[in-house]
Amino acid sequence: MIYPIIAYGDPILRKVTRPVAEGEVDIKTIAENMFETMYNASGVGLAAPQVGLDIRIFVVDGSPMADDEDEENEGEPENPELIGFKKVFVNPQIIEESGDPWAFEEGCLSIPGLRADVFRPAEIKIRYQDTDWKVHEEVFAGIAARIIQHEYDHLEGKLFVDYLPALKKQMIRKKLSNISKGIVDADYRMRFYNKK
Ligand code: ZN
Repeated sequence: MIYPIIAYGDPILRKVTRPVAEGEVDIKTIAENMFETMYNASGVGLAAPQVGLDIRIFVVDGSPMADDEDEENEGEPENPELIGFKKVFVNPQIIEESGDPWAFEEGCLSIPGLRADVFRPAEIKIRYQDTDWKVHEEVFAGIAARIIQHEYDHLEGKLFVDYLPALKKQMIRKKLSNISKGIVDADYRMRFYNKK
């Protein structure tokens, strides 16, 4: 089932989500639906608040970003760590962030048409459960870490635009307000909090 994606401006995107307990929700079906919704919107990550759920779960599949978009080094995957990087993170907890912060241009399915450079630490250590409730602890770096950091923020009620410098924030204010009202082009179904 494809959920509509919640657009910027909805208070659910600002809520800190709650942990889920085994048996409380059908975690496998939720994860499946989230993947379907994410693929339908050509995203590489999707967090529960973006589909209106206030629980600690997000899904990622970075494989579309494994290959470089320009043709120059054809055949050579630009980001080999992203091949097969498809995962569900249930009740995740980032326990360590390290390395020099680096800039990467981020976008968000809840904020279509807007991309901006965000600085984040290069490496993370994260503890999480899979959909069989098994606990994992793993280290991620590069773009894999980046995708996780972005999605993890959603569970904390944070969005990538929060990190932008004041001037840039000022410049995108009108655009964000338009998105919240439904004045936006997205080729997937969305739900708008301030739509008249
Ligand atoms: Zn996002």
